[in-house]
Amino acid sequence: MNDERPLADILRPKTLDEVIAQEHLVGKNGIIRKLLATGFLPSMIFWGPPGCGKTTLAQLLATLTNSFFESHSAVTATLADVRRVIKQAGERKNLSGLRTILFLDEIHRFNKAQQDALLPAVEHGTVIFIGATTENPSFEVISPLLSRCRVLVLKRLEEDELKEITVRGLTYLHKSLEKKAESFLFEIANGDARALLTVLGIAASLTKQKKLSAADIEEAAQRKMLQYDQLGEEHYNTISAFIKSMRASDVDGALYYLARMVAAGEDPLFIARRMVVFASEDIGMAQPTALVVANTVFDACNKIGYPECQENLAHGVVYLALAKKDRSAYDAYMAALGDVKQLGNLPIPLVIRNAPTKLMKGLGYGKGYDKYTTESLLPEKLKNKQYYKRG
Ligand code: ADP
Repeated sequence: MNDERPLADILRPKTLDEVIAQEHLVGKNGIIRKLLATGFLPSMIFWGPPGCGKTTLAQLLATLTNSFFESHSAVTATLADVRRVIKQAGERKNLSGLRTILFLDEIHRFNKAQQDALLPAVEHGTVIFIGATTENPSFEVISPLLSRCRVLVLKRLEEDELKEITVRGLTYLHKSLEKKAESFLFEIANGDARALLTVLGIAASLTKQKKLSAADIEEAAQRKMLQYDQLGEEHYNTISAFIKSMRASDVDGALYYLARMVAAGEDPLFIARRMVVFASEDIGMAQPTALVVANTVFDACNKIGYPECQENLAHGVVYLALAKKDRSAYDAYMAALGDVKQLGNLPIPLVIRNAPTKLMKGLGYGKGYDKYTTESLLPEKLKNKQYYKRG
């Protein structure tokens, strides 16, 4: 095992069959398999979270189609780099007929002018462009480029899939992993296979023991495992006790369970996120500023972090626990949602439909529309139904 490369690199899948998850792309009926069978590769955009296989797939496509692979990151590449790559790709194509796949990671970091520069080469097929992004391409990629590319969505790796990656890593390292460290490792990875393998690789280099312990993973990740029980059940029990205490306006209980979570090293944003939800679900119309306060607590935790943000959490918890409670907005919404699920998309009354064309106007869309009508605007079948109980 003299390979000095990072573990994630060493274990990068070398065939489509080795790619974990992404069945909708690389499975038997997956689009990538189909494209490969036709031999035609369009330009593409891979949209998915970090470490789910975007670069891997682009590299595999290059290998499987015998294409030249040019890989760059939009964070560091300049317009001059792009022009040079495109020029060389043109020459390569003319000289040897070899196709070039231009892979551009984090394409959303390119500005409009930089993205524009890609257009002619994509249009003329000088390069097969593959852009990778973690952001929604509809907003981050200019529309002329987007319309020339197929967008393929890659999914975040789930726990079972991370487990497979872990097994691969441990097999390569000739190591095993303490059971209770496993879920901590998945939590650190947060769906990112590279992050997982990086931590595993570092942990393995830190110890001579065959079995990696939770402490090894903690050291490698420079993060503490939550000091709850091993199954993580305590984690859910505590957050639930915390919410229930706030709901019952038991301010002491709420502060106590908050302290338990903080002492266990719970992510402050996890706690604050639940407080933001609580402000709307349980306090709602009784005190709408609760949402503002909870949001501000979230921001403060985000900016400040531990240890100081405990104070912001405590301040917010006292406020939320003491506030008047009202679930009317939440209950009303849930009732409306129930109808939508049960009855499907009922026809919207013509009177409030948009009438952007003459034809639609002719069909009665928007006819008799009165801004301040007191009539029920619900679909016919639900006419006059009241979800919201007005006090
Ligand atoms: P990104 O989506 O950020 O481009 P990469 O494709 O570079 O991620 O993946 C980084 C590493 O993580 C790979 O080298 C590989 O070891 C592992 N990996 C990522 N996704 C997968 C996957 N779907 N199947 C197997 N390994 C994966």
